[in-house]
Amino acid sequence: MPEVGREVLRKAKVEAIFVHVPRGRTSSPKEFMKKFVETDVLLPRTAHTISRSLMKINPRLCGIANYGVGFNNIDIRSATELGIPVTNTPDVLTETTADLAWALLMATARRIPQGHLFVRSGAWEKSPDKILWGRDIGPGGSNTPKVLGVIGFGRIGRAVVRRSRGFKMKVMAYDPYLKETIEKAKGVEYQELYNLLKQSDFVTIHTPLTQESRHLIGKDELDLMKSSAILINTSRGPVVDEKALVSALKKGKIAAAGLDVFEKEPKLAPGLAKLDNVVLLPHIGSATEDTRGQMAVVAAKNAVAMSKGKRPPNIVNPEVLESTEYRRRLEQ
Ligand code: NAD
Repeated sequence: MPEVGREVLRKAKVEAIFVHVPRGRTSSPKEFMKKFVETDVLLPRTAHTISRSLMKINPRLCGIANYGVGFNNIDIRSATELGIPVTNTPDVLTETTADLAWALLMATARRIPQGHLFVRSGAWEKSPDKILWGRDIGPGGSNTPKVLGVIGFGRIGRAVVRRSRGFKMKVMAYDPYLKETIEKAKGVEYQELYNLLKQSDFVTIHTPLTQESRHLIGKDELDLMKSSAILINTSRGPVVDEKALVSALKKGKIAAAGLDVFEKEPKLAPGLAKLDNVVLLPHIGSATEDTRGQMAVVAAKNAVAMSKGKRPPNIVNPEVLESTEYRRRLEQ
């Protein structure tokens, strides 16, 4: 946890125990379990799965302060039933994640990593006439605006739309919960998913991972996309059926994909890493020092509030505060 977050805990005189639990670890290490049963508040990273059985082990747990905005790593329904408030870190990472999504879109369209490797490896010297062809993001030489399709018109989706303005794109968005907001938004057209996929040159995903959004983009959806289209995913890996994506990329059903997130991080679907039409990043959407620092501050403030039995600023299951199970936990 960055120092600025630790400082918040120190100032609030909260005793903090730090245990490193590596990403992708399914069983909880002994050291963690020993400390966990003594804690009032848990502050996990989004790479850590917080299951019902884990929560049930600690009867005094009265808060989970997730270090991230997405909270699909936590069984929220169980937390609520067991009387445990859960918080996240919205807003502070919006711009940074949108920057990364945009960087990935540009890198994938213009094949920046492929070009970098070509030069660095000495291949350019051997084949000086080879051209690495890319795709336009702006109107380019054809003078036809490209279509950007945004799935999920929340904080990050909207920040990505703002970045597209300089590229004179035609923007469409799909978000079943914000249809009216999109219809009122300037320069954005509401489209159902089917139409958005059929018309977009770039599709960028910004939904949370929920039961409903799991495999939102699978074989059928990839089949709808243009063969020249590029898919960008900086949301959560399981929103895209990775196996179906590998197949679509191999067969040229879509042109390319830029991915920051994967179904089973840090593992990739077989064949994905070998493809030339992908740009792959190790889940770094919010990974700048400033932003991770601000996320740590927000998570720590939430943790402090919950450790004192107060309503935390960024609660995602507020109904829990009225429950007898929550009150019982506070009395432990
Ligand atoms: P947000 O809640 O502001 O926006 C999410 C939007 O998705 C909402 O408007 C919601 O209505 C919409 N949505 C929900 N289900 C949908 C569905 N099935 N189809 C279409 N739209 C749907 O959240 P945000 O702050 O913009 O963050 C979005 C997600 O991005 C997070 O949940 C997180 O998983 C992910 N994220 C990833 C990184 C990274 O490091 N790659 C960093 C930050 C956030």
